[in-house]
Amino acid sequence: MPAAIIERIETSLVDLPTIRPHKLSVATMHGQTLMLVRVFCSDGVVGIGEGTTIAGMAYGPESPEAMKLAIDAYFAPAMIGQDATRIQALMAHLGKLVKLNHFAKSALETALLDAQGKRLGVPVSELLGGRRRDRLPVAWTLASGDTARDIAEAEQMLATRRHRIFKLKIGARDPRADIQHVADIKSALGDRAEVRVDVNMAWSEAQASWAVPSLADAGCELVEQPVASAAALARLMRRFPVALMADEVLQGPESAFAIASEHGADVFAIKIEQNGGLFAAQRVAAIADAAGIELYGGTMLEGAVSTIAAAHLFTTFAQLQWGTELFGPLLITEEILTQPLDYSDFGLTVPVGPGLGIELDEARVKRFTRDGLIKVTDKR
Ligand SMILES: [Mg+2]
Repeated sequence: MPAAIIERIETSLVDLPTIRPHKLSVATMHGQTLMLVRVFCSDGVVGIGEGTTIAGMAYGPESPEAMKLAIDAYFAPAMIGQDATRIQALMAHLGKLVKLNHFAKSALETALLDAQGKRLGVPVSELLGGRRRDRLPVAWTLASGDTARDIAEAEQMLATRRHRIFKLKIGARDPRADIQHVADIKSALGDRAEVRVDVNMAWSEAQASWAVPSLADAGCELVEQPVASAAALARLMRRFPVALMADEVLQGPESAFAIASEHGADVFAIKIEQNGGLFAAQRVAAIADAAGIELYGGTMLEGAVSTIAAAHLFTTFAQLQWGTELFGPLLITEEILTQPLDYSDFGLTVPVGPGLGIELDEARVKRFTRDGLIKVTDKR
């Protein structure tokens, strides 16, 4: 008889406002919805996980609502009565029952790891092989859609020593306007800050061929997913004096291996949700390391739970050459933890308590928890 059996699984949707509109090539976000999952075990331990996407379904095929449905109807019934301590075996079993659904799997695996860490009295980072660092550099994304406002925001981040690496979300406008936007921001910030861009697949290969060198001239050091396909990204490699990063094309270890085997990117953005969980993301990172591809800790603009889950994983990486962008909780107006995360001195301190090492402010979370189904008349 195992020491801990899964007895019950609860899911909820939490709608939180953002500090400002967040403009991406795919959508403009005015709020963020967290799908929270709680796994209740027979030894009294409760693990928590989170599934969050960028702008509903604008980024990919899973929405918070779909994750909740998949867990309620498919994952949970298969998990009840299972050994909560055999996490990799259980996730492999679920992988056979449910295809894809990477974000939902990541949320469940996070909850199981949180529970196991609490059970054993160790941080999740120790369950993943042991941390190599306690703090992670954190980039900020400038995405107000307005150059002057972005510069003012960057200046404020530098003055308060919160961020000195800035990622600009481009791709929604004409590439020439975007290049000017990047050049203006880099020239205002100079050597005090690093400037990178994320095109979120918006450009054709032909557009990228002339726009990427102009970005390099403007002082941009890293271009993330300028084109949609892995093949086009690979063809753009080594043509410009700037690093190219793969993000959306990384959908788990098999995709990572395919890209790495033709050295189709300089850098991999590692995301626990997009890759199907922490262990899958860890394997993606190992493939990158073996192929000489550099690493960056990416985000799905998650709230505190999944952000910290990713942070635990990133502390274990042998290499983390490009830092992280784990700023999701800072984009949300509401603090949902009893003890706020420590963002200071251009980095995030990764908690050392058991499991994820964080505690939800349940009353605050409840206030923003969605009640019932969305009616089709509700405008979102
Ligand atoms: Mg990206």
